[in-house]
Amino acid sequence: MYLPHRTWPDLGEYVAEESLAIVPVGSTEQHGPHLPEGTDHMIAEALAREASERTGYLCTPPITVGVSPHHRQFHGTMWVDAPVFRDYVENLSRNLTYHGIDRIVYVNAHGGNVPHLREVGRRLHEDEVAFACEWMWDESIPELIEEVFETPGPHGGPKETAMIMHVARKLVREDRLEAARDGGVQAVADEQPSVEGARVFYDAIEVTDNGVLGDQTDATPEVGEELFEAATGALIRLLEWLDDRPFAHLMPEPHVEPRPGSRR
Ligand SMILES: [Zn+2]
Repeated sequence: MYLPHRTWPDLGEYVAEESLAIVPVGSTEQHGPHLPEGTDHMIAEALAREASERTGYLCTPPITVGVSPHHRQFHGTMWVDAPVFRDYVENLSRNLTYHGIDRIVYVNAHGGNVPHLREVGRRLHEDEVAFACEWMWDESIPELIEEVFETPGPHGGPKETAMIMHVARKLVREDRLEAARDGGVQAVADEQPSVEGARVFYDAIEVTDNGVLGDQTDATPEVGEELFEAATGALIRLLEWLDDRPFAHLMPEPHVEPRPGSRR
């Protein structure tokens, strides 16, 4: 059930029986010379809507701009500052709880959003208003990614290229795959400046000239479909697990005994 396509009576029927919502979260930022700036939010929305379609769970509109200041030197990158992002996501999540939602999965496709979505989940958990967790698609299928690509690359590499070939093929500049590989960096570990254990870089441009990592020429639409299917399966299992949990089991444990103030 995709919220923007439904009427309020439809949504009333939904929350009479269900309390779970899927919120797609991505970014709008450079993804090299070959992939569109909307790569992350398009992947997140495609996975979220597919899982929603197959299960009937509610999917909200996507959050399309995230925490991406580390890509700002490249044209077109949009971002909001981390505290603004956290407050925005927290606020719209609390608004969902007003309608009866008490569990949320943030279907995420941008690494820069991870700690902030975790923080929002923690705030909602501490206040016992909802259980919200962050799910990053590629972290749900690490073995498959290792198996199909030699140099997966964390950004603009073959895994994202294959996924966009599957969900929006016309938007991939396939004539630029070799240039993307040759002008970028293959393995992130070789290039990340680290001094005595300290990470001494902040922006992508310090690591890769054209903004990408990995060998994009390994990407095909068929591999993209395989990744998409596997990640959708993992997401559906997470949604079903979350739906099955009693709400009380999702809430924080009480303080250990003796409870503060109990003998006052
Ligand atoms: Zn990305």
